[in-house]
Amino acid sequence: MVFASRVAYAYDRARAHPPEVSGQVAGAMAGEVSGVEDPVFLELGVGTGRIALPLIARGYRYLALDTSSAMLDVFRQKVAGVTRKVRILQADARDIPLEDESVDAVVVVHLWHLLEDWPRALAEALRVLRPGGVLLEGWDEAEASEDFRVQEAWRRFVAEEGVKVERGRHRRRLGQVEAALKELGLAPRTGVVARWTEERSLRQSLENIQERLYSFTWTVPEEVHHRAVVQLWAWAEAEYGDLDRTFPIPWRFVLRVTRLAL
Ligand code: SAM
Repeated sequence: MVFASRVAYAYDRARAHPPEVSGQVAGAMAGEVSGVEDPVFLELGVGTGRIALPLIARGYRYLALDTSSAMLDVFRQKVAGVTRKVRILQADARDIPLEDESVDAVVVVHLWHLLEDWPRALAEALRVLRPGGVLLEGWDEAEASEDFRVQEAWRRFVAEEGVKVERGRHRRRLGQVEAALKELGLAPRTGVVARWTEERSLRQSLENIQERLYSFTWTVPEEVHHRAVVQLWAWAEAEYGDLDRTFPIPWRFVLRVTRLAL
């Protein structure tokens, strides 16, 4: 997926965490390097920096890696003024341009499911970690809400065009990565580090699908997506009437911590 600038900005707006959640997530990650002097973080697939910025604001050295120039452009603007300890690497997570054992923490949030050959990126993450370093994998999980109904309706319209959209890919991939870590003799531990409720309008849910902000939409051909979206708006208007009505989405942020042996 190549992100256009417009999509990078839309992604940044749609995926932002509330400030207290950003603080809780950063606090949980920072706690994992508390014994290390001036630790170095590396984030694979940093995107527009919603995880990185609160850590950078705490004064950590941060290596921000991503393949997408559009995402990195937004990140660069957001980080302007506090860049002294930030290095931007436009590079591939499967081929990290860093020395072995050169960072204290590798952060990976919502990336694994985008990489077919994720074992290469995982091997690279473990290669650049110092002994005693931590792999910090995070993800957002939502409970069922109207947003899910909107997504399901879009899937139905796409399916009627003969295109099947895979479900649960992100969760399956997280399970595969966990199994790979355990096979290496490592002991990942998983916990919820933040909970919050988002009020989202139906219009926003529809726009997120229309703009293809979710990776599950990326495999659908443009004409099929376009027709499904036209049907989706008509369905939503008939179903809900007022599209500016908001509904709650209960969220949690999950952190999986894997520490390498010293
Ligand atoms: N981690 C950020 C967050 O949680 O907000 C961004 C997540 S976004 C879903 C995935 C990011 O991974 C995008 O910015 C994309 O450009 C980047 N990406 C995709 N494939 C990549 C690869 N092979 N190497 C590095 N970054 C990649």
